[in-house]
Amino acid sequence: MNLVLLGPPGAGKGTQAKRLQDLRSLVQLSTGDMLRAAVAAGTELGRQAGELMEQGQLVPDALVIGLIAESMDEGKGGAGFILDGFPRTIGQAEALNTLLQSRGEKVDRVVVIEVDDDALVARITGRFTCATCGEGYHELFKLPKVEGVCDVCGGTKFSRRADDTEEVVRERLKAYHAQTEPLIGYYKAQDKVSAVDGMADIETVQKEIDQALDGA
Ligand code: ADP
Ligand code: ADP
Ligand code: ZN
Repeated sequence: MNLVLLGPPGAGKGTQAKRLQDLRSLVQLSTGDMLRAAVAAGTELGRQAGELMEQGQLVPDALVIGLIAESMDEGKGGAGFILDGFPRTIGQAEALNTLLQSRGEKVDRVVVIEVDDDALVARITGRFTCATCGEGYHELFKLPKVEGVCDVCGGTKFSRRADDTEEVVRERLKAYHAQTEPLIGYYKAQDKVSAVDGMADIETVQKEIDQALDGA
């Protein structure tokens, strides 16, 4: 099963993708993570993407389509993929169809995680991540069980994203509403959309997604 997780920045896509990956043996493909890795490695692609990311704008379709094509080629995803943060434009959605078709597959379900804009700003500005294993945390909603120690790997270094400031989040939300939200109608026309209430707590959202997938 190939699943698209759609939702504004901070909706909980990454959080839920990691849980689904473990529960359903799917492979998470996050273009945001791939782009940040390219920026950190200082590659040409990272150089092209970095400035746009800092400004909260989308990077060109061709860049992210190339990244997704490469990771699908690596032969992972036996049981399917969880696409987290991709597609974000209609052009990307069409490229994804083509890529999956060439594997004899399709997008099976699109889960839209719905959260109010004001809650998103709080989610994003409180977000931090384990620098060792990438586990996501939040200052208010998901602190490590032992202060300063990652629940998953025991690491003690944490990091924050350069684009997780209130100012940049407002730009990312604009980009979401203008360029990504139209995908909901695009996939509704194909009868693939399940909407879940992303304002609920992390466990409840997970259960709702699980039910949406079982009903699919
Ligand atoms: P996205 O990948 O959609 O940008 P994340 O999964 O990184 O979002 O979540 C953004 C922040 O909000 C993180 O700090 C995460 O721990 C927290 N978070 C995720 N889901 C919820 C939820 N249902 N309720 C409260 N906080 C959440
Ligand atoms: P979030 O869901 O928290 O906004 P992501 O980690 O998915 O963040 O994306 C971070 C940034 O990376 C985006 O603001 C954008 O600049 C870039 N990006 C990620 N995925 C895409 C994509 N599919 N298309 C264009 N730009 C992308
Ligand atoms: Zn960790």
